Amino acid sequence: MDYIDLHTHTTFSDGTYTPEELMKYAVQKGLKAIAVTDHDTIDGYESSAFWAKHYNIEFIPGVEIDATYNDIEIHILGLFIDPKNKALVKLLNDLQQLRQNRAAKIIEILNTDGIDVALKDIYALSSHSLIGRPHFAKFLVNNGYYDSVSDAIKNYLGRGKRAYVARPLPEPGIVFDIIKCAGGIPILAHPVQYHLDYLREETMIKEFKAGGLVGIEAIYSENSSEDTRRYLEIAERYSLLVSGGSDFHGSVKPGLDLGCGRGSFGVEYGILEELRRYFD
Ligand code: AMP
Ligand code: ZN
Ligand code: FE
Ligand code: FE
Repeated sequence: MDYIDLHTHTTFSDGTYTPEELMKYAVQKGLKAIAVTDHDTIDGYESSAFWAKHYNIEFIPGVEIDATYNDIEIHILGLFIDPKNKALVKLLNDLQQLRQNRAAKIIEILNTDGIDVALKDIYALSSHSLIGRPHFAKFLVNNGYYDSVSDAIKNYLGRGKRAYVARPLPEPGIVFDIIKCAGGIPILAHPVQYHLDYLREETMIKEFKAGGLVGIEAIYSENSSEDTRRYLEIAERYSLLVSGGSDFHGSVKPGLDLGCGRGSFGVEYGILEELRRYFD
């Protein structure tokens, strides 16, 4: 059986593997195909495509875009996107700007809380120009405020916590349209992460389908087997394509491995073949 991973992050967003390291590792893990889905950026596209070719692994260009639905932040994967598409590039530039605005506000809160930090200290922890909460979390860990990135996000930077700053994110429908316009497939990322009750969850998915959603990440490393069954059934009922990925971030998410998640996880190659049928 051949396995794939359609949700991964590199140093171009908040992962800790460079595209070269990621592709090399994917081959070591025996994966046949991989999509890179950095947050709000496709700056890693050329490097990822180059190293995928070098290590002879099938590569799918992707992105993971932030959006907002009823006040919650949701993530939308775009697979098979054209990284040169103007509408997509414009949307991602706008999202980067929002990240920069948010970062300045987070710094203010940290300073108010007596933490001596400037924006440049956070940028110094990023390999490229994008910064997110994991970079802030890393700073807090390095300076002894929290034990782990996860700890810092859960207790301080996360939604509802002291240093949480909301961003005015785009509506999902706009993101679906732009991904399609860029030749890609819009896929709802990790539905399990939104912690909605079953009724709200299904209402959301139904609305998204009506608004142009094409696929759902029914197979995800943090799902229980019951979650996966439920999402596969929802995908069938709403005629959504199925995607699957680990959301590998390297050491930002310890214990969550490429291709196999927390151990028993795996995405079969057939999932990719089904997704490709969208273009037939
Ligand atoms: P941002 O995109 O800057 O809003 O930061 C959110 C990102 O932080 C998510 O996409 C995850 O990659 C990461 N993240 C969120 N919660 C956790 C957690 N508990 N542990 C580690 N990483 C997390
Ligand atoms: Zn991330
Ligand atoms: Fe995500
Ligand atoms: Fe992700």
